[in-house]
Amino acid sequence: MNLYQKLKKDVRFEEGLKSCMNCGVCTAICPAAEFYDYDPRMLVATVQSKNEEKIEDLLKSETIWYCGECMSCKTRCPRGNTPGLIIMALRNVSQELGFFTESEKGRQQLAIKRVIGENIFNKGYCVLPENLIPELHPEQGPVWEWIFENKTEVYARVGANLHGDGPGALRKIPQESIEEIRKIFEVTGGSERLEKIEQFSQSKAEEMGFGGKSDNLQDYITYIYTTNNGQHSRNL
Ligand code: SF4
Ligand code: SF4
Repeated sequence: MNLYQKLKKDVRFEEGLKSCMNCGVCTAICPAAEFYDYDPRMLVATVQSKNEEKIEDLLKSETIWYCGECMSCKTRCPRGNTPGLIIMALRNVSQELGFFTESEKGRQQLAIKRVIGENIFNKGYCVLPENLIPELHPEQGPVWEWIFENKTEVYARVGANLHGDGPGALRKIPQESIEEIRKIFEVTGGSERLEKIEQFSQSKAEEMGFGGKSDNLQDYITYIYTTNNGQHSRNL
């Protein structure tokens, strides 16, 4: 099956691409295009061309990771296309084939899998307060650092039930519900996808000279999460 056929199998692709006339309205309203070196109009044109070589380049590129999935393009396209949905399908194929490891933004999929993916799978939450480690999130500032260091007291003060039994914000999700979540991951292919992201990332980490399984790829994760080649933003 070629890449275009793989994309067509995704229901989001079918909904997202009807017929693009290359007008550029999506690019004009796209918030990501204002900031990143990114042009949804060009992306849709590439996919619509069915050129396998160019689609493969796209799947390996930074481009498909810039979209913020805000769906502004869905409401504005005069042809009823949704570039944001096409991008979801592209990301899916990029993960399935391991092409995501070929770009700086794509490699960050491992960090997202390890935090958001594993949180949902193990705890029932996307993000937890302990994930926002101050040294990895300097943008959060000194107040966050203080909250992070005093989280038990601070969350209790605002009425949350951090990791506690019973009701309340940030409560521990009952095991029965976690089992249901895991079942959903299993039947939808989510667990298999998480595993693939690990495997492809492991190979890439070895290729890039990072330590093996012994450190659980921690050096690699820190590297992919904190490096920035400075080429992503649009030159204003
Ligand atoms: S707005 Fe619609 S028709 Fe125009 S370039 Fe974007 S996807 Fe194509
Ligand atoms: S969904 Fe993606 S491509 Fe569409 S407007 Fe939002 S950021 Fe741009």
